[in-house]
Amino acid sequence: MPPAAVDRSVLPEPGFLIGAEKITTHDGEVYEHRYAATGEVTYAVPLAGQQEVDAAVAAARAALPAWKRMPGNERRRLMLAFAAAVRASEHLAPIITVENAYPLAFTPYFTNWVAELFEFNAGYADKIGGEVVATFPGPAFDYTLDEPYGVVAVIVPWNGPFVSFGQWLAPALAAGNTIVIKPPEMAPYTCLALAELAVEVGFPPGVINVVPGGAVAGTALTSHRDVNKICFTGSGGTASRIVSASAPNLTPTAFELGGKSARIVFADADLDEAARRTLLGTGQACIAGSRVLVEAPVYDRLVEMSAALAAQVPMGDPFDPGTFVGPVISQGHADRILGFVDRAKEAGTGRLVTGGERLGGELADGYFLAPTIFADVDNSAEIAQEEIFGPVTAFMRFETEEEAVAIANDSEYGLAAHLETNDLRRAHRMARDLDAGTVWVNGFVDLPVGAPFGGVKRSGYGRQGGIWGIREFVQAKNVWMPL
Ligand code: NAD
Repeated sequence: MPPAAVDRSVLPEPGFLIGAEKITTHDGEVYEHRYAATGEVTYAVPLAGQQEVDAAVAAARAALPAWKRMPGNERRRLMLAFAAAVRASEHLAPIITVENAYPLAFTPYFTNWVAELFEFNAGYADKIGGEVVATFPGPAFDYTLDEPYGVVAVIVPWNGPFVSFGQWLAPALAAGNTIVIKPPEMAPYTCLALAELAVEVGFPPGVINVVPGGAVAGTALTSHRDVNKICFTGSGGTASRIVSASAPNLTPTAFELGGKSARIVFADADLDEAARRTLLGTGQACIAGSRVLVEAPVYDRLVEMSAALAAQVPMGDPFDPGTFVGPVISQGHADRILGFVDRAKEAGTGRLVTGGERLGGELADGYFLAPTIFADVDNSAEIAQEEIFGPVTAFMRFETEEEAVAIANDSEYGLAAHLETNDLRRAHRMARDLDAGTVWVNGFVDLPVGAPFGGVKRSGYGRQGGIWGIREFVQAKNVWMPL
């Protein structure tokens, strides 16, 4: 069965949420958003320009005094009400599926995660205060006040705008900041739907403003003098442009960027589980274990097992509950991914074991790519160094633990690492030695909301999650008086 035609009625009407107003028309640029499973246009989405960004920043500025002075327990109650509404909502999961064709079998996991992030951070809203500082030599009273930055600009990517909304906004709001969030043109819907839900449960207008758009809106926002902090999830290239745009104002930034993470599989691992996680842990995910390093004695077996799984993975209609893998986001992205595949084949830097093509037949109208495995890849090859952000994995063989660490760390990125081993000491040794913000051992991608998440090297700086996430959004003011 080909994927069912897109049901536009699940989507919020595209537009901008600025202060109390939802604006659905403008005379600026539009973007034809397409449902990736069928290629159908959902809406011609209006894209924010300078005017909308200016209005959104002004609305966030106007809402700031009342929001930051709102008693913490009231902010907590609002955040909990929002989390409850997200949990109860049935309309959000299908929006994610239409927005970026993520299979509906998994999207409720994301809505629950967003709710969890708000519940967790709501608990900080009434506990952020300050400290008393020891003074010497003279008698004095010195204390700190943890104050919000002010207006926070949040820029999110198309692969997970929904999760990024929760990861950045929950701590920022708990700490008393107001928000202008810019979802990308390729995924403009879920942030709007979430912000509208926040207004429904009682968030004051202007606390969360949404301006879907592309580079024009992004530049307007990141060069804006009245923005006090920029939080960005996306690629390193865009992060560099944001640094340039924000340099004149010295606006502080926090960056969650790309990765080329290693999955390191030892001979003592549970190979069935390792193969399953190898397959599921790739694709359009920043934390994808897209380089698979396998200890020599089990290398051929794991390549074979992974290829067999790749050939069977249920792909197709994202609304079918049995579908595990959907299409990639767009025609342009499919072409980009296949470009990596073609160049690797031409260069002969590895052996194509399976995949490497676009799927036809019933799936021909969507942007479906076969899960692709290259074996015997050298770590210096383009497919081992560049973030492909698609279903392509590069397998490499290693002999020793030291060699595995050296290969894994030979990357400009450092977002995550995935270890598959049953040797406890080795797991802890390697967790210490790997250049990565997160190390998963014998597990998939569970990320407790209380844990820090972020990268090292070109994967970014700053942390989301737990108390680390709160610290991104408060600045200590010091108060001193002699006694
Ligand atoms: P991207 O950098 O192209 O775009 C990200 C966002 O930046 C979009 O909203 C886009 O409209 C905006 N943007 C584009 N040009 C801009 C400019 N000049 N100024 C300001 N904003 C601008 O990234 P993408 O293709 O949307 O997303 C994929 C990337 O995101 C991958 O590198 C992936 O690894 C990364 N990512 C990282 C994480 C993480 O948590 N570390 C999570 C998801 C995705």
